[in-house]
Amino acid sequence: MIEIDEKKRAVLRSIPGVDTLLTVAEKRGLLGRYPRERVLRAIRDAVEEVRAFIIAADNVQEPATIRMENVMGKIEEKLFILSSPSLKRVINATGVVIHTNLGRAPLDAQSLEHLVSVASGYSSLEFDLERGERGIRYVHVAEKICRLTGAEAAVVVNNNAAAVLLVLNTLAEGRQVVVSRGELVEIGGSFRIPDVMARSGARLVEVGTTNKTRLRDYEEAITEETALLLKVHKSNFRQVGFVEEVPLDQLVKLGRSRNIPVFNDLGSGSLVDLSCWGLPKEPMAQEAVAAGADVITFSCDKVLGGPQGGMIIGRKGLIDKIARNPLNRALRPGKLTLAALERVLMHYEDGTLEAVPVVAMLSMPEKELRRRAGRLARKLKSAIGGDAEIGIRKDASQVGGGALPEYNIPTYTVTVKPEKISAGELEERLRHQKVPVIARITADSLVLDVRTIFPSEYEDLVESFRNSLKM
Ligand SMILES: *Cc1c(COP(=O)(O)O)cnc(C)c1O
Repeated sequence: MIEIDEKKRAVLRSIPGVDTLLTVAEKRGLLGRYPRERVLRAIRDAVEEVRAFIIAADNVQEPATIRMENVMGKIEEKLFILSSPSLKRVINATGVVIHTNLGRAPLDAQSLEHLVSVASGYSSLEFDLERGERGIRYVHVAEKICRLTGAEAAVVVNNNAAAVLLVLNTLAEGRQVVVSRGELVEIGGSFRIPDVMARSGARLVEVGTTNKTRLRDYEEAITEETALLLKVHKSNFRQVGFVEEVPLDQLVKLGRSRNIPVFNDLGSGSLVDLSCWGLPKEPMAQEAVAAGADVITFSCDKVLGGPQGGMIIGRKGLIDKIARNPLNRALRPGKLTLAALERVLMHYEDGTLEAVPVVAMLSMPEKELRRRAGRLARKLKSAIGGDAEIGIRKDASQVGGGALPEYNIPTYTVTVKPEKISAGELEERLRHQKVPVIARITADSLVLDVRTIFPSEYEDLVESFRNSLKM
């Protein structure tokens, strides 16, 4: 219990009343600029905040009264926040390319342009322009992904978690799904294979051990009740030491001999070979098709670099069944997703991969990263050089999004060591700017990884730093 002494009581009494504040707000034209309800809410919030601040304060300084100016400043601050969207663009200076909390994959210019053109009017979403009759929303994306991967058919849902749920529900409800104990993964704190399995109505049959699962383990688990053999990519963790897992092609062989489809959840499911750029290889969707997996799922907004979505590809008979599941009606993507996704896939077909931001960021040469760090450091020096020490350091970026865990990609960072405030205080102020900057702190500096900062954002970034330091 915090004690409220006489001094505090006096300060609390000195807070201007709501009516007084409303009159001042009106005089200053706030009621002309904002709806009355919002001004009132800002006043109440500000007063509440000032009260809480005084009550929590250790000691009250003299002169112990609240100035009108301070409360009005707070009210204007609140009005600014209440009048702007809370879901907004931020600058990702963390170097984590597929940052789930920051919205994963940024979209490329052409996909955005296409999205805007589709969304700003009517579209051929479910209308076959050839025949002039009702069409299917999935075709726009399905034909392209089939050409790219060699799959017979495809359907898209809202995300990969939905994809896994839909596949299991369609093909294995009330029956058994065999999966290795080493692959019962949890991704991002809310997607757990056993939980999704339970919700789908399928029954989980765990085989093998945490570190070793052999083909024989799957073989012995197969019964009349077996609907699927499931293989899940260990996206966000790595096992070292005495480990053994069954390669997809061997599982496919077993499935074929027993007439049981094999379902492969790839997680990231890249369409390009990341090892081309010196990165560890992630399983590719076309390789899973070639290995004979009957159904394959992967995220559209991880390494693929598209909008949030879950791709389901595979044999036509199975995909048709999956698409017809009534549950699919609840999981299907909207036109914004489909518009952006189709256009991103065209980059893969056209070989214009450098246009896909995620691919460009992951494959950025060290020389380019160093050049960018130099440029950003110069800009920051000329803007805030008097208030902070700016440096350049070699560091490491991460792929993120549960892909390539533990793998550090060499990068260059710009370090900012503020002179008058702590790095923690600067980090917090940057988050409250009109264009927030999200950055890491090490020791006494803020670290800006240039890999995930677009050069077109440099001006905004510098402005946010300037404002944060002059506060
Ligand atoms: C990321 C991931 C998922 C979930 O995908 P979302 O697109 O986040 O829904 C499922 N399975 C694996 C193996 C993953 O890596």
